[in-house]
Amino acid sequence: MAERIQTAPEAGNDMGNDDAIGGNVSKYMVLPAGYCGLPKKGHLIFDACFESGNLGRVDQVSEFEYDLFIRPDTCNPRFRVWFNFTVENVKESQRIIFNIVNFSKTKSLYRDGMAPMVKSTSRPKWQRLPPKNVYYYRCPDHKKNYVMSFAFCFDKEEDTYQFAYCYPYTYTRFQHYLDNLQKRNMDYFFREQLGLSVQQRQLDLLTITSPDNLREGAEKKVIFITGRVHPGETPSSFVCQGIIDFLISQHPIARVLREHLVFKIAPMLNPDGVYLGNYRCSLMGFDLNRHWLDPSPWAHPTLHGVKQLIVQMYNDPKTSLEFYIDIHAHSTMMNGFMYGNIFEDEERFQRQAIFPKLLCQNAEDFSYSSTSFNRDAVKAGTGRRFLGGLLDHTSYCYTLEVSFYSYIIGGTTAAVPYTEEAYMKLGRNVARTFLDYYRLNPMIEKAAVPTPRLRKEKPLPYKYPLLRGPASNYPHGKGNKKSSVNHKDPSNSF
Ligand SMILES: [Zn+2]
Repeated sequence: MAERIQTAPEAGNDMGNDDAIGGNVSKYMVLPAGYCGLPKKGHLIFDACFESGNLGRVDQVSEFEYDLFIRPDTCNPRFRVWFNFTVENVKESQRIIFNIVNFSKTKSLYRDGMAPMVKSTSRPKWQRLPPKNVYYYRCPDHKKNYVMSFAFCFDKEEDTYQFAYCYPYTYTRFQHYLDNLQKRNMDYFFREQLGLSVQQRQLDLLTITSPDNLREGAEKKVIFITGRVHPGETPSSFVCQGIIDFLISQHPIARVLREHLVFKIAPMLNPDGVYLGNYRCSLMGFDLNRHWLDPSPWAHPTLHGVKQLIVQMYNDPKTSLEFYIDIHAHSTMMNGFMYGNIFEDEERFQRQAIFPKLLCQNAEDFSYSSTSFNRDAVKAGTGRRFLGGLLDHTSYCYTLEVSFYSYIIGGTTAAVPYTEEAYMKLGRNVARTFLDYYRLNPMIEKAAVPTPRLRKEKPLPYKYPLLRGPASNYPHGKGNKKSSVNHKDPSNSF
Protein backbone atom coordinates (compact mmCIF):
# COMPACT_ATOMS: atom_id res chain seq x y z
CA MET A 1 0.00 0.00 0.00
CA ALA A 2 1.08 3.55 -0.57
CA GLU A 3 2.40 5.79 2.13
CA ARG A 4 1.50 9.39 2.45
CA ILE A 5 4.22 11.92 3.04
CA GLN A 6 1.69 14.71 3.17
CA THR A 7 -2.09 14.88 3.14
CA ALA A 8 -4.61 17.64 2.90
CA PRO A 9 -5.27 19.13 6.33
CA GLU A 10 -9.01 18.86 5.77
CA ALA A 11 -8.74 15.27 4.63
CA GLY A 12 -9.03 13.90 8.14
CA ASN A 13 -6.92 11.03 9.41
CA ASP A 14 -8.80 8.09 8.07
CA MET A 15 -8.81 7.85 4.33
CA GLY A 16 -8.30 4.13 4.56
CA ASN A 17 -11.74 3.06 3.41
CA ASP A 18 -14.04 4.15 0.63
CA ASP A 19 -16.47 5.95 2.86
CA ALA A 20 -13.99 8.24 4.57
CA ILE A 21 -12.89 10.71 1.93
CA GLY A 22 -13.06 14.12 3.53
CA GLY A 23 -11.10 16.49 1.31
CA ASN A 24 -8.90 16.83 -1.73
CA VAL A 25 -5.42 15.35 -1.86
CA SER A 26 -2.76 18.02 -1.47
CA LYS A 27 0.65 17.51 -3.12
CA TYR A 28 0.38 13.89 -2.15
CA MET A 29 3.38 11.79 -3.19
CA VAL A 30 2.82 8.09 -3.70
CA LEU A 31 5.77 5.96 -2.61
CA PRO A 32 5.97 2.24 -3.33
CA ALA A 33 5.09 -0.03 -0.41
CA GLY A 34 8.05 -0.51 1.87
CA TYR A 35 10.15 2.15 0.13
CA CYS A 36 12.46 3.95 2.57
CA GLY A 37 14.83 5.95 0.36
CA LEU A 38 14.56 9.50 -0.88
CA PRO A 39 11.72 10.32 -3.25
CA LYS A 40 12.70 9.99 -6.92
CA LYS A 41 11.39 10.95 -10.32
CA GLY A 42 8.45 8.73 -11.13
CA HIS A 43 7.04 8.81 -7.59
CA LEU A 44 3.92 10.59 -8.72
CA ILE A 45 2.65 13.63 -6.82
CA PHE A 46 -1.11 14.13 -6.98
CA ASP A 47 -2.81 17.41 -6.17
CA ALA A 48 -6.39 18.68 -6.23
CA CYS A 49 -6.13 21.56 -3.75
CA PHE A 50 -6.97 24.25 -6.25
CA GLU A 51 -10.14 25.89 -7.47
CA SER A 52 -12.66 23.37 -8.90
CA GLY A 53 -10.18 20.59 -8.06
CA ASN A 54 -11.44 17.16 -7.09
CA LEU A 55 -9.51 14.06 -6.10
CA GLY A 56 -10.09 12.48 -2.70
CA ARG A 57 -7.69 9.59 -2.43
CA VAL A 58 -5.02 7.65 -4.31
CA ASP A 59 -4.11 3.99 -3.77
CA GLN A 60 -1.19 2.48 -5.59
CA VAL A 61 -2.13 -0.97 -6.89
CA SER A 62 1.20 -1.80 -8.53
CA GLU A 63 4.18 0.01 -9.98
CA PHE A 64 2.07 1.04 -12.94
CA GLU A 65 -1.46 1.20 -11.62
CA TYR A 66 -3.32 3.55 -9.29
CA ASP A 67 -6.87 3.54 -7.93
CA LEU A 68 -8.25 7.07 -7.76
CA PHE A 69 -11.24 8.12 -5.67
CA ILE A 70 -13.40 11.12 -6.49
CA ARG A 71 -14.05 13.33 -3.47
CA PRO A 72 -17.82 13.32 -2.92
CA ASP A 73 -19.71 16.61 -3.07
CA THR A 74 -19.37 18.60 0.16
CA CYS A 75 -22.00 17.45 2.66
CA ASN A 76 -23.49 15.05 0.15
CA PRO A 77 -21.67 11.76 -0.39
CA ARG A 78 -24.21 10.62 -2.98
CA PHE A 79 -22.62 12.58 -5.84
CA ARG A 80 -19.25 11.52 -7.23
CA VAL A 81 -18.68 12.35 -10.90
CA TRP A 82 -16.50 15.45 -11.38
CA PHE A 83 -12.74 15.01 -11.07
CA ASN A 84 -9.96 17.49 -11.75
CA PHE A 85 -6.40 16.93 -10.50
CA THR A 86 -2.75 17.33 -11.39
CA VAL A 87 0.11 14.85 -11.50
CA GLU A 88 3.77 15.84 -11.40
CA ASN A 89 7.22 14.43 -10.72
CA VAL A 90 6.79 12.05 -13.64
CA LYS A 91 9.52 10.12 -15.41
CA GLU A 92 9.92 10.32 -19.17
CA SER A 93 8.10 7.46 -20.91
CA GLN A 94 6.45 6.45 -17.63
CA ARG A 95 3.37 4.42 -18.46
CA ILE A 96 0.52 4.22 -15.99
CA ILE A 97 -3.06 3.09 -15.63
CA PHE A 98 -5.42 5.21 -13.58
CA ASN A 99 -8.66 3.62 -12.37
CA ILE A 100 -11.40 5.97 -11.21
CA VAL A 101 -13.23 3.59 -8.95
CA ASN A 102 -16.05 5.33 -7.11
CA PHE A 103 -18.33 7.01 -9.64
CA SER A 104 -21.83 7.44 -8.27
CA LYS A 105 -23.40 6.80 -11.69
CA THR A 106 -23.56 3.63 -13.68
CA LYS A 107 -24.66 4.85 -17.10
CA SER A 108 -21.99 6.98 -18.65
CA LEU A 109 -20.89 8.39 -21.98
CA TYR A 110 -17.61 6.54 -21.35
CA ARG A 111 -19.46 3.60 -22.82
CA ASP A 112 -19.98 5.61 -26.00
CA GLY A 113 -16.45 6.82 -26.56
CA MET A 114 -16.11 9.68 -24.10
CA ALA A 115 -12.61 10.10 -22.67
CA PRO A 116 -11.13 12.24 -19.89
CA MET A 117 -9.55 15.60 -20.70
CA VAL A 118 -5.82 16.19 -20.32
CA LYS A 119 -3.43 19.10 -20.63
CA SER A 120 0.10 19.76 -19.45
CA THR A 121 2.39 22.68 -18.76
CA SER A 122 3.87 22.71 -22.23
CA ARG A 123 0.54 21.89 -23.93
CA PRO A 124 -1.96 24.09 -22.12
CA LYS A 125 -4.89 23.41 -24.46
CA TRP A 126 -7.27 20.75 -23.18
CA GLN A 127 -7.51 17.59 -25.26
CA ARG A 128 -9.48 14.40 -24.95
CA LEU A 129 -7.50 11.21 -24.47
CA PRO A 130 -7.82 8.71 -27.31
CA PRO A 131 -10.95 6.64 -26.55
CA LYS A 132 -9.05 3.45 -27.36
CA ASN A 133 -7.08 4.00 -24.13
CA VAL A 134 -10.24 4.30 -22.00
CA TYR A 135 -12.23 1.42 -20.51
CA TYR A 136 -15.49 1.53 -18.59
CA TYR A 137 -16.64 -1.63 -16.89
CA ARG A 138 -18.19 -3.15 -13.82
CA CYS A 139 -15.43 -4.16 -11.43
CA PRO A 140 -15.73 -6.94 -8.82
CA ASP A 141 -12.85 -5.42 -6.82
CA HIS A 142 -14.78 -2.23 -6.09
CA LYS A 143 -18.17 -3.32 -4.76
CA LYS A 144 -19.17 -4.04 -8.36
CA ASN A 145 -19.02 -0.33 -9.03
CA TYR A 146 -18.43 0.92 -12.54
CA VAL A 147 -14.79 1.82 -12.99
CA MET A 148 -13.25 4.02 -15.68
CA SER A 149 -9.66 3.06 -16.43
CA PHE A 150 -7.33 4.87 -18.75
CA ALA A 151 -3.79 4.23 -19.88
CA PHE A 152 -1.42 7.14 -20.24
CA CYS A 153 2.22 7.72 -21.04
CA PHE A 154 3.96 10.73 -19.51
CA ASP A 155 6.41 12.15 -21.97
CA LYS A 156 7.94 15.30 -20.44
CA GLU A 157 9.58 15.15 -17.04
CA GLU A 158 9.23 18.83 -16.28
CA ASP A 159 5.53 19.02 -17.16
CA THR A 160 2.69 18.99 -14.68
CA TYR A 161 -0.22 17.06 -16.15
CA GLN A 162 -3.83 17.84 -15.38
CA PHE A 163 -6.76 15.48 -15.88
CA ALA A 164 -10.45 16.42 -15.69
CA TYR A 165 -13.89 15.01 -16.33
CA CYS A 166 -14.69 17.80 -18.81
CA TYR A 167 -13.31 21.26 -19.72
CA PRO A 168 -13.08 23.13 -16.39
CA TYR A 169 -14.69 26.57 -16.10
CA THR A 170 -13.95 28.12 -12.71
CA TYR A 171 -15.58 30.86 -10.69
CA THR A 172 -12.40 32.98 -11.02
CA ARG A 173 -12.40 32.59 -14.80
CA PHE A 174 -16.01 33.72 -14.83
CA GLN A 175 -15.26 36.74 -12.64
CA HIS A 176 -12.36 37.78 -14.90
CA TYR A 177 -14.57 37.39 -17.94
CA LEU A 178 -17.21 39.66 -16.44
CA ASP A 179 -14.60 42.18 -15.19
CA ASN A 180 -13.28 42.48 -18.74
CA LEU A 181 -16.75 42.98 -20.16
CA GLN A 182 -17.44 45.70 -17.62
CA LYS A 183 -14.28 47.55 -18.59
CA ARG A 184 -15.62 47.98 -22.10
CA ASN A 185 -18.29 50.37 -20.85
CA MET A 186 -20.99 49.16 -23.24
CA ASP A 187 -24.17 51.09 -22.66
CA TYR A 188 -26.27 47.98 -23.28
CA PHE A 189 -24.49 45.70 -20.78
CA PHE A 190 -25.14 45.94 -17.05
CA ARG A 191 -23.74 43.80 -14.26
CA GLU A 192 -25.11 43.76 -10.75
CA GLN A 193 -24.69 41.64 -7.67
CA LEU A 194 -27.98 39.93 -7.05
CA GLY A 195 -26.79 38.31 -3.86
CA LEU A 196 -24.05 36.31 -2.18
CA SER A 197 -23.56 32.61 -1.75
CA VAL A 198 -23.14 30.98 1.65
CA GLN A 199 -19.37 31.43 1.31
CA GLN A 200 -19.89 35.04 0.20
CA ARG A 201 -19.22 34.59 -3.49
CA GLN A 202 -20.97 36.81 -5.99
CA LEU A 203 -24.25 35.91 -7.61
CA ASP A 204 -23.95 37.99 -10.77
CA LEU A 205 -26.92 39.20 -12.74
CA LEU A 206 -26.35 40.59 -16.22
CA THR A 207 -28.81 42.71 -18.17
CA ILE A 208 -28.21 43.04 -21.89
CA THR A 209 -30.55 45.38 -23.74
CA SER A 210 -30.68 48.74 -25.40
CA PRO A 211 -30.81 51.46 -22.66
CA ASP A 212 -34.11 52.65 -24.16
CA ASN A 213 -35.79 49.51 -22.87
CA LEU A 214 -34.81 50.32 -19.30
CA ARG A 215 -36.24 53.80 -19.08
CA GLU A 216 -39.04 54.45 -16.59
CA GLY A 217 -42.36 53.05 -17.75
CA ALA A 218 -40.99 51.13 -20.76
CA GLU A 219 -42.65 47.82 -21.53
CA LYS A 220 -40.18 44.98 -21.40
CA LYS A 221 -40.08 41.55 -22.97
CA VAL A 222 -37.69 39.59 -20.80
CA ILE A 223 -35.68 36.47 -21.64
CA PHE A 224 -34.31 35.02 -18.40
CA ILE A 225 -31.35 32.64 -18.59
CA THR A 226 -29.55 30.80 -15.78
CA GLY A 227 -26.58 28.42 -15.69
CA ARG A 228 -24.34 26.30 -13.48
CA VAL A 229 -26.91 25.46 -10.84
CA HIS A 230 -25.13 22.10 -11.06
CA PRO A 231 -21.49 23.04 -10.59
CA GLY A 232 -19.85 20.08 -12.33
CA GLU A 233 -21.81 20.79 -15.51
CA THR A 234 -19.11 23.04 -16.94
CA PRO A 235 -20.45 23.02 -20.54
CA SER A 236 -23.28 25.16 -19.16
CA SER A 237 -20.80 28.03 -18.68
CA PHE A 238 -19.40 27.78 -22.20
CA VAL A 239 -22.92 27.84 -23.67
CA CYS A 240 -23.80 30.79 -21.44
CA GLN A 241 -20.66 32.65 -22.47
CA GLY A 242 -21.55 32.01 -26.11
CA ILE A 243 -24.96 33.60 -25.53
CA ILE A 244 -23.45 36.63 -23.77
CA ASP A 245 -20.65 37.15 -26.31
CA PHE A 246 -23.15 37.08 -29.14
CA LEU A 247 -25.66 39.39 -27.48
CA ILE A 248 -23.06 42.07 -26.72
CA SER A 249 -21.49 41.87 -30.17
CA GLN A 250 -21.94 44.26 -33.07
CA HIS A 251 -23.54 41.50 -35.13
CA PRO A 252 -26.67 42.94 -36.79
CA ILE A 253 -28.82 40.20 -35.24
CA ALA A 254 -27.49 41.05 -31.78
CA ARG A 255 -28.34 44.71 -32.31
CA VAL A 256 -31.91 43.90 -33.30
CA LEU A 257 -32.30 41.54 -30.34
CA ARG A 258 -31.08 44.23 -27.92
CA GLU A 259 -33.50 46.72 -29.40
CA HIS A 260 -36.51 44.47 -28.87
CA LEU A 261 -35.76 42.29 -25.90
CA VAL A 262 -34.31 42.47 -22.42
CA PHE A 263 -31.92 39.60 -21.60
CA LYS A 264 -31.45 38.87 -17.91
CA ILE A 265 -28.72 36.31 -17.33
CA ALA A 266 -27.53 34.75 -14.07
CA PRO A 267 -24.75 32.54 -15.48
CA MET A 268 -23.54 30.95 -12.23
CA LEU A 269 -26.27 30.03 -9.75
CA ASN A 270 -24.02 27.88 -7.58
CA PRO A 271 -20.67 29.69 -7.27
CA ASP A 272 -19.65 27.82 -4.09
CA GLY A 273 -20.21 24.43 -5.69
CA VAL A 274 -18.20 25.54 -8.74
CA TYR A 275 -15.35 26.80 -6.57
CA LEU A 276 -15.29 23.65 -4.44
CA GLY A 277 -15.21 21.23 -7.36
CA ASN A 278 -18.58 19.66 -6.57
CA TYR A 279 -20.59 17.87 -9.22
CA ARG A 280 -24.14 18.67 -8.29
CA CYS A 281 -24.49 20.32 -4.89
CA SER A 282 -23.88 23.54 -3.02
CA LEU A 283 -21.50 23.91 -0.07
CA MET A 284 -24.14 22.55 2.27
CA GLY A 285 -24.91 19.55 0.10
CA PHE A 286 -28.14 20.80 -1.49
CA ASP A 287 -29.05 20.09 -5.07
CA LEU A 288 -30.32 23.63 -5.64
CA ASN A 289 -32.34 22.54 -8.64
CA ARG A 290 -34.69 20.67 -6.30
CA HIS A 291 -35.40 23.65 -4.04
CA TRP A 292 -37.27 26.12 -6.24
CA LEU A 293 -40.53 25.54 -4.39
CA ASP A 294 -39.28 27.02 -1.14
CA PRO A 295 -35.69 28.28 -1.21
CA SER A 296 -34.34 29.47 2.11
CA PRO A 297 -32.50 32.81 2.25
CA TRP A 298 -29.76 31.30 4.42
CA ALA A 299 -29.44 27.76 3.05
CA HIS A 300 -30.04 28.52 -0.65
CA PRO A 301 -29.37 32.27 -0.90
CA THR A 302 -28.50 32.41 -4.61
CA LEU A 303 -31.62 30.51 -5.58
CA HIS A 304 -33.68 32.60 -3.22
CA GLY A 305 -32.35 35.78 -4.83
CA VAL A 306 -33.10 34.67 -8.39
CA LYS A 307 -36.54 33.41 -7.50
CA GLN A 308 -37.45 36.67 -5.77
CA LEU A 309 -36.38 38.64 -8.83
CA ILE A 310 -38.39 36.42 -11.18
CA VAL A 311 -41.51 36.65 -9.03
CA GLN A 312 -41.09 40.41 -8.81
CA MET A 313 -40.82 40.69 -12.60
CA TYR A 314 -43.84 38.45 -13.00
CA ASN A 315 -45.86 40.82 -10.82
CA ASP A 316 -44.71 43.91 -12.72
CA PRO A 317 -47.42 44.85 -15.26
CA LYS A 318 -44.83 46.48 -17.51
CA THR A 319 -42.73 43.33 -17.72
CA SER A 320 -43.58 40.30 -19.78
CA LEU A 321 -41.38 37.39 -18.75
CA GLU A 322 -41.43 35.41 -21.97
CA PHE A 323 -38.72 32.78 -21.64
CA TYR A 324 -36.90 31.06 -18.83
CA ILE A 325 -34.01 28.83 -19.93
CA ASP A 326 -31.82 26.98 -17.43
CA ILE A 327 -28.62 25.56 -18.93
CA HIS A 328 -27.26 22.17 -17.87
CA ALA A 329 -24.97 19.42 -19.17
CA HIS A 330 -25.98 15.79 -19.60
CA SER A 331 -23.82 12.82 -18.64
CA THR A 332 -25.51 10.11 -20.72
CA MET A 333 -27.06 11.78 -23.78
CA MET A 334 -25.51 13.14 -26.98
CA ASN A 335 -26.27 16.52 -28.57
CA GLY A 336 -27.97 19.58 -27.23
CA PHE A 337 -31.67 19.15 -26.45
CA MET A 338 -34.37 20.57 -24.22
CA TYR A 339 -36.79 19.53 -21.53
CA GLY A 340 -40.10 21.35 -21.42
CA ASN A 341 -43.34 21.08 -19.50
CA ILE A 342 -46.62 19.34 -20.17
CA PHE A 343 -49.75 21.47 -20.10
CA GLU A 344 -53.41 20.50 -20.22
CA ASP A 345 -53.91 23.24 -22.77
CA GLU A 346 -53.03 21.55 -26.05
CA GLU A 347 -52.38 24.82 -27.84
CA ARG A 348 -49.94 25.99 -25.16
CA PHE A 349 -48.23 22.65 -25.33
CA GLN A 350 -47.81 22.99 -29.09
CA ARG A 351 -46.55 26.54 -28.86
CA GLN A 352 -43.90 25.39 -26.43
CA ALA A 353 -42.41 23.17 -29.14
CA ILE A 354 -41.72 26.11 -31.44
CA PHE A 355 -38.52 27.42 -29.87
CA PRO A 356 -36.73 24.04 -29.81
CA LYS A 357 -37.81 23.42 -33.41
CA LEU A 358 -36.40 26.75 -34.52
CA LEU A 359 -33.20 26.13 -32.57
CA CYS A 360 -32.85 22.79 -34.33
CA GLN A 361 -32.80 24.67 -37.64
CA ASN A 362 -30.02 26.96 -36.48
CA ALA A 363 -27.78 24.57 -34.55
CA GLU A 364 -26.50 21.38 -36.16
CA ASP A 365 -25.73 19.90 -32.75
CA PHE A 366 -29.22 20.48 -31.33
CA SER A 367 -31.61 17.55 -31.53
CA TYR A 368 -35.34 18.10 -31.55
CA SER A 369 -35.94 14.38 -31.43
CA SER A 370 -34.16 14.17 -28.07
CA THR A 371 -36.20 17.09 -26.73
CA SER A 372 -38.95 15.93 -24.39
CA PHE A 373 -41.74 17.27 -22.27
CA ASN A 374 -42.55 15.81 -18.89
CA ARG A 375 -43.97 16.31 -15.46
CA ASP A 376 -42.07 13.73 -13.42
CA ALA A 377 -42.62 14.09 -9.69
CA VAL A 378 -38.86 13.90 -9.14
CA LYS A 379 -38.37 17.12 -11.10
CA ALA A 380 -41.02 19.16 -9.30
CA GLY A 381 -38.42 21.34 -7.55
CA THR A 382 -36.58 22.30 -10.74
CA GLY A 383 -36.59 25.84 -12.09
CA ARG A 384 -38.26 24.77 -15.29
CA ARG A 385 -41.09 22.93 -13.53
CA PHE A 386 -41.65 25.47 -10.79
CA LEU A 387 -41.68 28.48 -13.09
CA GLY A 388 -43.78 26.60 -15.66
CA GLY A 389 -46.42 26.34 -12.93
CA LEU A 390 -46.05 29.90 -11.69
CA LEU A 391 -45.91 31.85 -14.93
CA ASP A 392 -48.90 32.29 -17.21
CA HIS A 393 -49.59 30.86 -20.64
CA THR A 394 -47.43 33.45 -22.43
CA SER A 395 -44.21 32.22 -20.83
CA TYR A 396 -42.08 29.27 -21.78
CA CYS A 397 -39.72 27.47 -19.44
CA TYR A 398 -37.05 25.07 -20.60
CA THR A 399 -34.04 23.19 -19.40
CA LEU A 400 -31.37 23.31 -22.09
CA GLU A 401 -29.11 20.27 -21.87
CA VAL A 402 -25.88 19.72 -23.72
CA SER A 403 -23.84 16.55 -23.79
CA PHE A 404 -20.64 16.30 -21.79
CA TYR A 405 -19.22 14.46 -24.76
CA SER A 406 -20.40 14.87 -28.32
CA TYR A 407 -23.04 15.48 -30.92
CA ILE A 408 -24.11 13.54 -33.95
CA ILE A 409 -24.86 15.52 -37.06
CA GLY A 410 -28.12 14.58 -38.75
CA GLY A 411 -27.67 11.98 -41.48
CA THR A 412 -24.35 10.70 -40.16
CA THR A 413 -23.33 8.27 -37.47
CA ALA A 414 -20.10 9.91 -36.37
CA ALA A 415 -19.96 11.43 -32.91
CA VAL A 416 -18.23 14.79 -33.01
CA PRO A 417 -16.69 15.54 -29.60
CA TYR A 418 -17.65 18.95 -28.26
CA THR A 419 -14.94 21.54 -27.92
CA GLU A 420 -15.13 24.69 -25.80
CA GLU A 421 -15.79 26.57 -29.04
CA ALA A 422 -18.59 24.19 -30.07
CA TYR A 423 -20.33 24.73 -26.72
CA MET A 424 -20.06 28.50 -27.19
CA LYS A 425 -21.40 28.18 -30.72
CA LEU A 426 -24.50 26.45 -29.34
CA GLY A 427 -24.93 29.50 -27.09
CA ARG A 428 -24.67 31.86 -30.06
CA ASN A 429 -27.27 29.80 -31.90
CA VAL A 430 -29.62 29.89 -28.92
CA ALA A 431 -29.37 33.70 -28.94
CA ARG A 432 -29.97 34.11 -32.64
CA THR A 433 -32.99 31.79 -32.53
CA PHE A 434 -34.88 34.56 -30.73
CA LEU A 435 -34.67 36.50 -34.00
CA ASP A 436 -36.63 33.75 -35.72
CA TYR A 437 -39.02 33.27 -32.86
CA TYR A 438 -39.99 36.94 -32.73
CA ARG A 439 -39.94 37.21 -36.52
CA LEU A 440 -37.44 40.01 -36.38
CA ASN A 441 -35.71 38.99 -39.61
CA PRO A 442 -37.21 41.91 -41.59
CA MET A 443 -35.43 44.26 -39.20
CA ILE A 444 -32.11 42.84 -40.31
CA GLU A 445 -32.98 43.24 -43.98
CA LYS A 446 -34.08 46.78 -43.29
CA ALA A 447 -30.72 47.57 -41.77
CA ALA A 448 -29.25 46.51 -45.16
CA VAL A 449 -26.11 45.26 -43.52
CA PRO A 450 -24.59 42.17 -45.06
CA THR A 451 -25.04 39.31 -42.61
CA PRO A 452 -23.89 35.74 -42.66
CA ARG A 453 -26.77 33.48 -43.57
CA LEU A 454 -28.14 31.26 -40.89
CA ARG A 455 -27.59 27.62 -41.49
CA LYS A 456 -30.38 26.18 -43.63
CA GLU A 457 -32.11 29.51 -43.47
CA LYS A 458 -35.25 29.56 -45.53
CA PRO A 459 -37.31 32.63 -46.16
CA LEU A 460 -40.34 32.36 -43.94
CA PRO A 461 -43.44 34.47 -44.33
CA TYR A 462 -42.56 36.71 -41.42
CA LYS A 463 -44.94 39.52 -40.85
CA TYR A 464 -44.42 42.91 -39.45
CA PRO A 465 -45.58 44.34 -37.01
CA LEU A 466 -44.20 41.85 -34.56
CA LEU A 467 -46.58 39.43 -33.05
CA ARG A 468 -45.83 37.01 -30.34
CA GLY A 469 -47.19 33.55 -30.76
CA PRO A 470 -46.84 30.49 -32.86
CA ALA A 471 -45.08 30.93 -36.16
CA SER A 472 -47.59 29.65 -38.71
CA ASN A 473 -45.20 27.41 -40.56
CA TYR A 474 -42.34 26.87 -38.24
CA PRO A 475 -39.95 24.28 -39.53
CA HIS A 476 -40.17 20.67 -38.63
CA GLY A 477 -37.51 19.03 -36.53
CA LYS A 478 -34.83 16.94 -38.04
CA GLY A 479 -34.88 13.20 -37.93
CA ASN A 480 -33.58 11.26 -35.02
CA LYS A 481 -29.93 12.00 -34.62
CA LYS A 482 -29.18 9.33 -32.08
CA SER A 483 -27.21 6.56 -33.63
CA SER A 484 -24.15 4.49 -33.09
CA VAL A 485 -20.94 6.15 -32.15
CA ASN A 486 -17.66 6.44 -33.91
CA HIS A 487 -14.85 5.97 -31.43
CA LYS A 488 -12.12 7.64 -33.45
CA ASP A 489 -10.55 10.71 -31.96
CA PRO A 490 -7.73 12.06 -34.06
CA SER A 491 -7.08 15.08 -31.89
CA ASN A 492 -4.74 13.64 -29.31
CA SER A 493 -1.04 14.34 -29.32
CA PHE A 494 -0.13 12.97 -25.90
ZN1 LIG B 1 -27.95 19.62 -14.31
